Amino acid sequence: MSLIIHYPTASLKPHKEESLLGGHLWIFSGALQQPPHWIEPGGLVDVKSSTGQFVARGYYNPRTDIAIRILTRDIEEAIDTGFLRRRIRSAVELRQVFDLNETNAYRLINSEGDGLPGLIVDRYAEVLVAQIHTAGMERLRPLIIDALMEETGSRGLLLRNDSQSRHREGLEVEEPQVAAGGVPTQVAVRENEVLFLIDPWQGQKTGFFLDQRDKRQALRKYVQAKRVLNCFSYTGGFSVYAALTSDKTHVTSVDISESAIEEARQHFILNGIDPNQHRFLIADVFDYLEQALREEVQFDVVVLDPPAFAKTQGARSQALKAYRRLNMLAMQVLRPGGILLTCSCSGVIGMDDLLGVVSQSAQRLQRKVQLLETFTQSVDHPINIAMPETGYLKAVFCRIG
Ligand code: SAH
Repeated sequence: MSLIIHYPTASLKPHKEESLLGGHLWIFSGALQQPPHWIEPGGLVDVKSSTGQFVARGYYNPRTDIAIRILTRDIEEAIDTGFLRRRIRSAVELRQVFDLNETNAYRLINSEGDGLPGLIVDRYAEVLVAQIHTAGMERLRPLIIDALMEETGSRGLLLRNDSQSRHREGLEVEEPQVAAGGVPTQVAVRENEVLFLIDPWQGQKTGFFLDQRDKRQALRKYVQAKRVLNCFSYTGGFSVYAALTSDKTHVTSVDISESAIEEARQHFILNGIDPNQHRFLIADVFDYLEQALREEVQFDVVVLDPPAFAKTQGARSQALKAYRRLNMLAMQVLRPGGILLTCSCSGVIGMDDLLGVVSQSAQRLQRKVQLLETFTQSVDHPINIAMPETGYLKAVFCRIG
């Protein structure tokens, strides 16, 4: 006999269940006919159609535009330790695509992409680093910690709940803290056999940008014995991959963060590359590119991996302008026939937008573009196909004539 569980009810306006039936996991506040009563932000709710049918189960936050995030569409599935363990197990199974001797740093839980909205967990060798972004996930925190440790057998779990976005959910921004076991300040990892030292406590986000792994690998074939410019280099991910391809490759890494540039230098040493054969610049990329242009410096390959220029729909047109300006500058320091890898990690900028930026930039400069390869985020960042916004990263390799 199955047990039917009930949570407080939220009712939808007519037809608003359709996107949920297609797998979308968000309900905006405007779609609610009747918000649930008497529940705390983050509390669990059953979502019903306008005709009173059960549609899905999720958690509610009256403070945010996204009023409900869906956790299950199975009326018999309670939101408990068993639920979390099943979702985590499924996520772990997908990551078996990685040979740990080659790559032991990957995203283990990718929020909506792994059916756990509001939760990010990255694995760095033996330790996990988690970010809880929503009030609903925050309420499940003790269960999540136990389930993660039990399902992964990790040595330690660090909570990086220091993102300012937590304010929007009515959550406190916390200092990094160990939730289980022990977590060192430096963890050595391998990615496609390249070595990196991650600082899970102080590095940006959880410490490393794992979503670019496949692009770093793809870059290798373009950079042998080339002059490479890596803009927004952070700790030198693309730079190390490039420098490892040949003694004759020369890499310039530019980032505004002094600590990131210092770590990039350390990553060269860690991989047996002499950093003195390369350039490391603490600078604003826009300023640097303008200066390079004035000085007529030329590169064979340019990588552009900026932070998200648009976080909201409203910021789109300003962001597109900034992407155009950046891409035009990059093209001007690229020799004819050079390779441009250009990326956007703004959820509201689609692949078509990015391709538009590249083609408009080239057109204004009267340069030709050959599109070579397009990418989204690497496989450990699965995209919920019903939610294009979960495919936030777009990356394009082009040859600029
Ligand atoms: N490509 C990197 C990740 C880049 S993250 C990797 O593969 O690991 C974006 C980086 O841009 C951050 O390191 C941040 O410090 C840097 N940044 C942000 N604004 C900048 C600016 N105006 N000029 C230079 N760097 C900037």
